[in-house]
Amino acid sequence: MKLAVYGKGGIGKSTIATHISVALAKRGKKVLQIGCDPKHDSTFTLTGFLIPTIIDTLKEKDYHYEDVWPEDVIYQGYGGVDCVEAGGPPAGAGCGGYVVGETVKLLKELDAFDNYDVILFDVLGDVVCGGFAAPLNYADYCLIITDNGFDALFAANRIVTSVQEKAKTHPLRLAGLIGNRTLKRDLIDKYVSAVGIPVLEVLPLIEEIRLSRVKACSLFSMSETQTSNMVDDKWEEEITETSQNSEILNSSLEEFTVSSEQKKATHVLNYICDFYLNIADQLIAQPEGVVPNPLSDREIFELLSNFYLDSGVNTNNNSESKINQSQGSGTIFENSANKEDDSFAWI
Ligand code: ADP
Ligand code: MG
Repeated sequence: MKLAVYGKGGIGKSTIATHISVALAKRGKKVLQIGCDPKHDSTFTLTGFLIPTIIDTLKEKDYHYEDVWPEDVIYQGYGGVDCVEAGGPPAGAGCGGYVVGETVKLLKELDAFDNYDVILFDVLGDVVCGGFAAPLNYADYCLIITDNGFDALFAANRIVTSVQEKAKTHPLRLAGLIGNRTLKRDLIDKYVSAVGIPVLEVLPLIEEIRLSRVKACSLFSMSETQTSNMVDDKWEEEITETSQNSEILNSSLEEFTVSSEQKKATHVLNYICDFYLNIADQLIAQPEGVVPNPLSDREIFELLSNFYLDSGVNTNNNSESKINQSQGSGTIFENSANKEDDSFAWI
């Protein structure tokens, strides 16, 4: 299965792509993730560092494909996910489509392209020119990431237009939209009901996700680390329990407090990972998907701006946008703009 993940810049494509890749790997799939954003940071949280790009490697080898080995460009990341970064054309020159074409050509020459159950392209979608739409030529499914705002939905509608165009010549379907960094989905729902697109999942803005990026790892690996720390703590507890030394016993009680905090944190991480596992399961089930009819620019402007005006989306009181959840501790923000006001303990 080949997937192409699209969405407006900074919306969370790479975050979602990497977590879907790991979730698919956890379900036993052999996965290759190909970063097709000139930013070349798609696979960063899987490998822990910025891997060399295909374009840079080809340049280094003077475009002699026969001198490039799989290990020069394919790096194994967390959970056994293989990672490739296509890289970008020189800024202001060249074409993203050329880069994607070269990447696929090289992977085919290395006999790598057919070795995977799932190949996931992580692609920028602000401008879906022929170049950036190129991964759709290879994909069975497109996934679009959006938040609950006009700009991301406008970009989504452009991507939908490309899907419709490519579906004329390729067996391509839109699997659905994934909402990210939002508690609300009213605008998303308005758009999908006008266009007829499934919504696979909606993720809130979660501090742990931002942290995982800074730590250059996925939430799945953070969760594993927490769990193994908890096992270590339990072992220490057992040792100190048998000790008669009260000093050690006191420190063991402190350890126990830390350990219950860790338990909560692990609970949150697992809760968030379940969002991604749910998306992976939907994809493994090979959804029917859709070939949607996009709105014209005028229609989407009217639909979304009328909705803004009618429902007073922007004038909502912060407290109304807060929800109570009982799934552990953590911090969810409504959106990055009013992060401070909307933070709350997720207990
Ligand atoms: P893109 O690939 O679309 O450019 P990224 O995946 O790099 O976007 O995400 C941009 C930033 O947003 C990163 O710092 C990432 O950690 C953060 N982010 C993504 N999704 C979430 C989320 N649900 N909650 C909090 N931060 C998020
Ligand atoms: Mg990205």
